[in-house]
Amino acid sequence: MTGRRKLAVGNWKMHGTRDSLGEIDALMQAHPAPRARIVLCLPATLLHAASIHAAPSSVWLGGQDCHAGIKGAHTGDISAGMLRDAGAGYVILGHSERRENHGETSEEVRAKARTAQAEGLVTIICVGESLAQREAANTLDIIGAQMDLSVPDTSTPENLIVAYEPIWAIGTGRIPSFEQIVEVHDFLRKDLAERFGDKVASGISLLYGGSVKPDNAATIFAAENVDGALVGGASLREADFTPIIHALESTVLPGDITG
Ligand code: PEP
Repeated sequence: MTGRRKLAVGNWKMHGTRDSLGEIDALMQAHPAPRARIVLCLPATLLHAASIHAAPSSVWLGGQDCHAGIKGAHTGDISAGMLRDAGAGYVILGHSERRENHGETSEEVRAKARTAQAEGLVTIICVGESLAQREAANTLDIIGAQMDLSVPDTSTPENLIVAYEPIWAIGTGRIPSFEQIVEVHDFLRKDLAERFGDKVASGISLLYGGSVKPDNAATIFAAENVDGALVGGASLREADFTPIIHALESTVLPGDITG
């Protein structure tokens, strides 16, 4: 038993309009009582419609980013409270596309996470190295620094999930070797234990993200410290996401947190 929750988290990125809500219906029908938690991080415009559509549901909802402030003059931004009001229980923070395209720093990610946790959202904080960083063999240094700066002191197993997403694996069809995934996830568990203690660290779910597909999911989930996946492209259609969820559910052990 890991004593942790297993999660299959979909990240729809900037995909989907109300026409896509049928995929959520299909997902609910395929998983009426999932043993792993299914979360869809949708475009903010879809959250409210999805929450009505999906309630009460086996599918949880999340946002893809939020502002560090509670409210204010921030044109175009969205607050954690707004996400929650629209039906989200989760929020992805520090995705590499936000770090790269919007210049988000780890300090900003931590500020956002602190606010999101205080507003009652579960934060999914992303860390990961570029290909150049991996080739320079300093992957663990990069990830350690991102962890130190991005994860707030207010984190607990109830409000923090960490996603390891090698940037070079996102949307590319390339994935790290099993040994590389194990190395990073073991490092993340140790890093959390040094900061928060063994008991807290052992309860925090760690996700792998980057080109997770139906045909590689089972191998990835075999790693002891991989508690699920953050899935981009393969989460857009129920037919692709379902086999990944099934692969994850087959790793749930007695004593793990289910549902
Ligand atoms: C992601 O964007 O978080 C991701 C992992 O994407 P993909 O699964 O498409 O590589």
